[in-house]
Amino acid sequence: MPLHDLGPESSGQGRGFRAYSAKHLDELTARAGLDQATRLAVRAVATVLPFRTNDYVLESLIDWSAGQADPMYRLLFPQADMLSAEDIGPIAAMLARGAPDEEIKAAAREVRMRLNPHPAGQLALNVPELDDEPLPGVQHKYPETVLVFPKQGQTCHAYCTYCFRWAQFVGEPDLKMATDDVARVTCYLQAHPEVTSVLITGGDPMIMSAGVLRRYVEPLLGPGLEHIESIRIGTKSLAYWPHRFLTDPDADDTLRLFDEVVAAGKSTAVMAHFTHPRELEPPQVAAAIRRIRSTGAVIRTQAPLIRGINDDAAAWSSMWRTQLRLGLVPYYMFVERDTGPQGYFAVPLGRAVDIFRDAYSSVSGLCRTVRGPSMSTTPGKVCVDGVAEIAGQKVFALHMIQARDPSLVGRPFFAHYDPAAVWLSDLRPAFADRFPFEPEPERLIGPVPWEAELLARAS
Ligand SMILES: *Cc1c(COP(=O)(O)O)cnc(C)c1O
Ligand code: SF4
Repeated sequence: MPLHDLGPESSGQGRGFRAYSAKHLDELTARAGLDQATRLAVRAVATVLPFRTNDYVLESLIDWSAGQADPMYRLLFPQADMLSAEDIGPIAAMLARGAPDEEIKAAAREVRMRLNPHPAGQLALNVPELDDEPLPGVQHKYPETVLVFPKQGQTCHAYCTYCFRWAQFVGEPDLKMATDDVARVTCYLQAHPEVTSVLITGGDPMIMSAGVLRRYVEPLLGPGLEHIESIRIGTKSLAYWPHRFLTDPDADDTLRLFDEVVAAGKSTAVMAHFTHPRELEPPQVAAAIRRIRSTGAVIRTQAPLIRGINDDAAAWSSMWRTQLRLGLVPYYMFVERDTGPQGYFAVPLGRAVDIFRDAYSSVSGLCRTVRGPSMSTTPGKVCVDGVAEIAGQKVFALHMIQARDPSLVGRPFFAHYDPAAVWLSDLRPAFADRFPFEPEPERLIGPVPWEAELLARAS
């Protein structure tokens, strides 16, 4: 197979993968042409939000001649104005005067806690129980799907500036959610025949070696788990480190594992995160896709819509068409979640729906497997279908793609149009006094926690 002829940087992760962290930031931002004051502010932002990148991403994805305006640069590098000047100024001053690490860390932590580190109540609300004990590192929000966060998969080959899981990457132990107790996860799944799909997620599970990944995947093929029909792996590795499937020392073992899942009669889906069309351009990506598809695994694609990175219809239609050509299946366009520097990346829902429709209407029906723009919220995935005028009122038409209460899936509902709204919590119900997922008034006494949260947001 000619796959090892892909260039000098395509050696295995042990040898070829070179990670860059905050301590390289000054050098890298200088390469992008930033002045000294801006570089200091960027370093201050990187004490609060995670930064990690690698040589492939730096050399194959970023257009350095465009500097800070380059969408790939904006995807990978913290920007000085991502956080407020009040938050960042004092930390920049500490860095400039060489303040002790502890002082800087404490200031950074304070800023973090103001950034809604765990949106949509993920930590408290969706952790299931086994034998009356919580099962951390597992989320069971929708009856048919269980998410597993393997302990060894809680990092990525590079970090996206908009990541909603950022809190997991910044060394706050109480913010981490992950499991290494595969036996308990398996027991839980055996006791839950309604679960048909297991989604292994992170961070990025493909950061794990094939051997460790196997410890999580293989038990799912065993007895008592015949009800598991699909195993999904959520990953950005095709964009950030395609060598994972080509020339890393365990690339072949990984593909064999996919083969085994397919042979066991289960659907294997790689849920590939692609943010920008440029991520699909390097020849290594097409080669990695060919290898994955040769196992019988399906690759579905998803990404959030991000201001300044992919907020135009041409970027999305180009991505979907290239993906189709390469045999991938477009799956979701997400709305950026309400966490971290959301204000910096948010696209108003009214614009999001225009971008989605303009892109969707310009691609063939084969690409129209994609859904969105979709908000992953506490009650479920809410899709914005469009803006309509009904009975003299301008409204958003919405429906739930996924819901904690399955009876709500697919039922249209409406919200007053608001050009500034960026998230469900900004919306007010139209033609009704509450949204379908909100509790009925008589249940206001002693609401369950997520209801309390919704009510707090709605008031
Ligand atoms: C999106 C999502 C899923 C998977 O939903 P599908 O409709 O099966 O793709 C599962 N759990 C959570 C928490 C999700 O956000
Ligand atoms: S790849 Fe996913 S989990 Fe990793 S930084 Fe990007 S958005 Fe976050």
